[in-house]
Amino acid sequence: MQQTFKLSWDAVESLASRYATPLLVLSLEQVEYNYNFLQQHLPGVKVYYAVKSNPEPSLVKKLAQLGSSFDVASDGEILALRELGIPPERMVYANPVKTARGLAVAQQTGVRQFTFDSATEIDKIAAYLPGATVLLRVRIDNDASLVNLNKKFGADAREALDLLLLARQKGLDVAGLCFHVGSQNNSAAAYLDALLAAHEIFQAAALAGLKLRILDIGGGFPIPTGKTNIDTMAMLKKIHQQLVALFPNTEIWSEPGRFISGTAMNLITSVIGAQIRNGRQWYYLDEGLYGTFSGILFDHWEYEMETARGKQGPEIEATFAGPSCDSLDIVFPNRRTVRLELGDLILVPNCGAYSSASATTFNGFAKAAVVVWEEVKEKLQPSMAAVS
Ligand SMILES: *Cc1c(COP(=O)(O)O)cnc(C)c1O
Repeated sequence: MQQTFKLSWDAVESLASRYATPLLVLSLEQVEYNYNFLQQHLPGVKVYYAVKSNPEPSLVKKLAQLGSSFDVASDGEILALRELGIPPERMVYANPVKTARGLAVAQQTGVRQFTFDSATEIDKIAAYLPGATVLLRVRIDNDASLVNLNKKFGADAREALDLLLLARQKGLDVAGLCFHVGSQNNSAAAYLDALLAAHEIFQAAALAGLKLRILDIGGGFPIPTGKTNIDTMAMLKKIHQQLVALFPNTEIWSEPGRFISGTAMNLITSVIGAQIRNGRQWYYLDEGLYGTFSGILFDHWEYEMETARGKQGPEIEATFAGPSCDSLDIVFPNRRTVRLELGDLILVPNCGAYSSASATTFNGFAKAAVVVWEEVKEKLQPSMAAVS
């Protein structure tokens, strides 16, 4: 079983009174645990953390200290990482369709590793960064993932060789392939299929006199939650075995996002309104769909929730809504809960990925503040521990 970060109710109450809600609590120890878990179960695979899943500076700095590299997708992410002192050699610009500003910033900052999936992108990269190192993104069809990224990106495997040769002809350093099987996979199957497809392309390239040296297996490793019962260890073991069998001498990269950041954050939010509407109980929270819960819309994520402790009584079905004036702002249309009162606290574990990262300040509500658990826990009275 993987360890996950969850605050005790002592800690939740103490944090809420000290910092006010909504509050995001980030555990850097959990970030380290997740990073080490991948290193241990996918030995030899270099981690390029997908910054988009959670660009929180303290999280990124922690990973940098641990030796991680980074998957960036825009000028903004490159500049933010440079601010944190991360050298350009530790970044791959893994957006297959780059903006002019993104390419200009890559050029200025010294980022030299890119992905592409079309002939037009080869010309763009070659114009800004002659001789840059490139990986061809290939399309992997996978219906089993929660978020399918192959609708939008990835070259057809049948075009792969032509694109690789074209990139070489345009003077680029054609290093290998990458793929992204989609997010929150619950088995190794899609990765194993993708590795077979990638192996065929490696062989075809070798026959054409192009020796590929890097394979980037992307992200998509699942966040373990109470509900899903995914055996991540077994999944990673299968991927590792396939890598050893098919790619013994290839440098392997991965681009985990959610796996690293997902379990590292807890949200504390409060009930700010309660009423019966058309015979149904509604609760209004101080955090909503335009904030941390944006992952419901963008990431199709189902957040877990725990209600204030000490609450007794039968469960009812209720609707939980966010604080904005938009009627779209409904967090949980139908959740079982004990009856709640104004000021009651709600704890949402496993909300570190694609949550605060896509939050907005719509309607004038500030983004939830972030505190680092290992920095604030000493200040809480009495001294307390997170439970896992
Ligand atoms: C978003 C993204 C990732 C991370 O995906 P997760 O599901 O968070 O692991 C990795 N690589 C690329 C290219 C991405 O776009």
